[in-house]
Order: sequence, then C-alpha cells, then structure tokens
Amino acid sequence: MSGSALFDTYARSPLSFEKGEGSWLVAESGERYLDFGAGIAVNSLGYTHPHLVSALVEQAGKLWHLSNLYRIPGQERLGERLAAATFADKVFFTNSGAEAIEGAIKTARRYHYANGQPERFRTITFEGAFHGRTLATIAAGGQAKYLEGFGPKADGFDQVPFDDIDAAEKAIGPETAAIMLEPVQGEGGIRPFPAQSLRRLRELCDARGLLLIFDEIQCGVGRTGRFFAHEWAGVTPDIMAVAKGIGGGFPMAAVLATEEAAKGMVPGVHGTTFGGNPLAMAVGNAVLDVILADGFLDEVVRKSLLLKQGLAAVADEFPDVIEEIRGTGLMLGVKCKVPNAGFNAALREQKLLAVPAGGNVVRLIPALNVTDEDIREGLQRIRGAAKALSAAASN
Ligand SMILES: *Cc1c(COP(=O)(O)O)cnc(C)c1O
Repeated sequence: MSGSALFDTYARSPLSFEKGEGSWLVAESGERYLDFGAGIAVNSLGYTHPHLVSALVEQAGKLWHLSNLYRIPGQERLGERLAAATFADKVFFTNSGAEAIEGAIKTARRYHYANGQPERFRTITFEGAFHGRTLATIAAGGQAKYLEGFGPKADGFDQVPFDDIDAAEKAIGPETAAIMLEPVQGEGGIRPFPAQSLRRLRELCDARGLLLIFDEIQCGVGRTGRFFAHEWAGVTPDIMAVAKGIGGGFPMAAVLATEEAAKGMVPGVHGTTFGGNPLAMAVGNAVLDVILADGFLDEVVRKSLLLKQGLAAVADEFPDVIEEIRGTGLMLGVKCKVPNAGFNAALREQKLLAVPAGGNVVRLIPALNVTDEDIREGLQRIRGAAKALSAAASN
C-alpha cells in the first residue's frame, strides 16, 4: 500500500488547509497562502463569504434534501433567474460538471430523436477540450491520457483541431447532432476561441440543423467579466453546461437550454437524486445575488486589467521564464518558457497557489471578488517566482 487509504489518482501537494478567508487559505501550521487557483475556478467569491455562509446555514436549519418527486422552490427560483439572465428557457440541475455535460449531450440527442431523426447522435468537439471524467465526457474531450485503459472510447464523438472551423464543417455527417466547445478552454491552457469563430459555428449549426453546446463550466458565471463568456462574441448556444463557480464551493451544476433544444426532455427520460438539492439551490441563489448585483462584473473587468497589466510587466522583465500572458477576465494564463510544473512550484514557494494547465500554461483564476490589494500582493509573489527561476536558469 502507498500509505493512504485513498485511491492514488491525484498527485497531491503536501499542503493541507484548515480554513479560508477571502482569497487566503490558512494551513494547519498557520502559514497563509494567497489562492489564485480558487479550487479550480470554483470558489468564485472566495472563502467564507458571509452572504453564502448565511444562505447555507439558514437552509441547513430547515431542510437538506428533498427528492425531485416534489417541487423545490429554490430550484424554481434559481432556474427562473438563470433563464432571465441568459439565452435559456429551461434549466436542469446536476451535481457536477461532467453530469451537466452528459445532460447537455443527452438533451441534444433527444432533440433530434423528437424531430424524427434518431440517427443524429454524434457530437463534434475540439482538440484540447476538457469536458469531464465520466466515460462519455472523456470520449468527448478526446484526450488520450484520460481515455487510456478504460476500454473502447464511447461512440458518438468526432474531434477536429482547435479553432479549425473548416474542419468542423467537413466533419459534419448525417449522424451529427451537435457541436460542443468551451468558449475559453480551461484545462487546455486558457485558449479562447475568437469571437468570429463562435459566430461562424453558430451560423454553421443553424445552416445544418445542429445544436450548438457551450461548456461554460470553467469560463462562465462571471469568470471573464460577463455572466457567460459567449456574451463577448454576441452569439448564444442552444444548450450550455454550467458548474464550478455557480456553487461558490458547494457542489452544483446545471444544463441550460432553449425551449426548442429541450423539447425531447420529457417526463421520465432523465433524472438525478441529488441534483437541485435545497442546500445547493440556497447557495446558488446567494452566488447570483452577488455576481448579478449592479457593477460586480464591471469590477471583474477592472481587476482583470490590473492583474493582466501587472503580469505583462513581469513577463517583460523575465522573458526567459514567461513566454506570454493570455486569457480574459479573471481567467488568465501564464504561458511558461520553463516547465509549467516548475513555475507552479516556484509560485507555491512564494505562498501563492495557482493551477497548471495544458500547453505549458499556469492558470491564474482567483476569486472574482479578489481585492486590489491581494492582486498587488499576488503580482509581487509572481514576480518573486519568476525572478527565482530566472536567477536559477542563469546560474
Ligand atoms: C471542470 C470542468 C468539467 C468537469 O467538471 P466536474 O465537476 O469535474 O465533473 C467540464 N468541463 C470544463 C470546461 C471544466 O473546467
């Protein structure tokens, strides 16, 4: 045995935290770490946000779980609010991102089934995608490292190179149901699809009778400075998966769809035990109270500029360590010249937490309400890490 009763699926760092406050995590030793990883873009409002804590505690004293055999008022309210603030008419709540993606794929397949075209079940996705770790979502993501050893890849997914819209068009066949993408790839290395590509994909889907699915699990819920990232491009999907930041740290997720796209999802065809649980709904509603409040998203944009300009200055100072700063809003990536794992470790030495991604990138995805002071402190630590690596390289 390797010393722990847990599956060995994670290469965990030895850090262990006892509590959090805002953008800070406090280790058992009392050491404080500035967290620009935010639980991989989950802790959208930092730790122990008073409005979220009170929403959860208040609901905990009333009712935890109720099956979906009954009406759940928090679900109805959150569903209405999400529909009012987006392209969607209909919402289905799940517990995790992968389940939301599965729900999105099932919704697309049922749409064509309801239209009398059950043969249309395939989904086109893009290289570098990450859609989750279930059997269908690893097939959708198409990454060999996640598929290996798990038997035949689930059928129904065709992958084309990143942002190659011509290839996507060529890949459309009589069995194609949908095109699915993250408007900004997260795990793939903070890679935004150009607005023009999103618009072309929308046109393509309309022309060919396909559904457009956006995976906004990481880039949504204010992360890019709009409620959802696709708003920057002025296009809307037919179906969208939302998770991570929507729960502010409480596990919850959702499938959003237009009424037309959701028309095959009739009573009995889909379900979940925990999805839309009253505790999750209380927290989700509280997260929306904050993120949709007047001026909040403008502040995300302003803070993003502060962080991005500071990062650009560090990149200019240490071109041997940093190749490029990319991303939008508070979803930024440092493309490294040194191995990204090394850069991430150097950041940790400075007591700043970040998250590695594909393409030799380190993600900086702080809480959306990170303070200016914490951004300045973070930039100093990032500079310190770059300096340490630059000095190490020149020795
Ligand atoms: C995290 C993530 C998922 C999977 O979410 P889980 O909650 O881990 O199942 C899917 N898509 C994207 C873009 C993600 O970032």
